[in-house]
Amino acid sequence: MLTPFYFFAFLLGLIIGSFLNCLIWRIYKNESIGGRSYCPKCRKQIDWYDNIPILSFILLRGRCRHCQASISWQYPLVEFITALLFLMTFMKDSVSPDFTILLLRDWLLVVTLVIVFVYDFRWQLIPVNVLWVMSVAMFILNLFLGFNYLNIIIYGAIGGAFFLIQYLLTRKKGVGEGDIWLGLFLGLSFPIASQLIFLLISSYFLGSIIALSLVLLRQKKFKAKIALGPFLVLGTLLTLFFGPAIVEWYLSFGGLL
Ligand SMILES: [Zn+2]
Repeated sequence: MLTPFYFFAFLLGLIIGSFLNCLIWRIYKNESIGGRSYCPKCRKQIDWYDNIPILSFILLRGRCRHCQASISWQYPLVEFITALLFLMTFMKDSVSPDFTILLLRDWLLVVTLVIVFVYDFRWQLIPVNVLWVMSVAMFILNLFLGFNYLNIIIYGAIGGAFFLIQYLLTRKKGVGEGDIWLGLFLGLSFPIASQLIFLLISSYFLGSIIALSLVLLRQKKFKAKIALGPFLVLGTLLTLFFGPAIVEWYLSFGGLL
């Protein structure tokens, strides 16, 4: 019965994903958000039929129609993953009584996570102005979802402080200033102790595994810098979809937390 809605959620995710690709580039280049998309190489405007998510990439065989410059795999990948995450959040939230507000919050969360992941992965930077706007949105939407305002603020502060302490301890080398804002954003998004703890543990766990594998595979030197943001994004997605179930499973053993 919900199938047409699933299809719509996926389709909307594709369109938003395509918009995010463009937005990420424009934030990086400090350009205005309005105006038509263009090829970054030859700067020719991209016609609508060459701008269809995923499909155009396949039809153009990953090359610009005008200058034949190859289009990054980032484009179809971001479109597909955003679509998948939009569909997954829709399926997760459709059973909730607060369906619409919850879905709006989770879609905005997904949008922010995609931006942070790509941006930090490509340029080792976190777009803090995006985080500021989205932090306000998370605060307001969590208020509507019935969280106490003081609770949301406290968890935001804990999230920010967690990275601020590391930032000061590592003398600005390990953790960047952007990670502090990301911590604040995540605390405001997850004002529940068990979930915020799970989020941080799973992010660091994933980060350690991947960093260690890269060292073992001799892809990175032990001291090479690996951006923290992408791991926090992965840990957040894990928390969003599986956090409550895993925490409940853990507590069913009479957990130690
Ligand atoms: Zn071109």
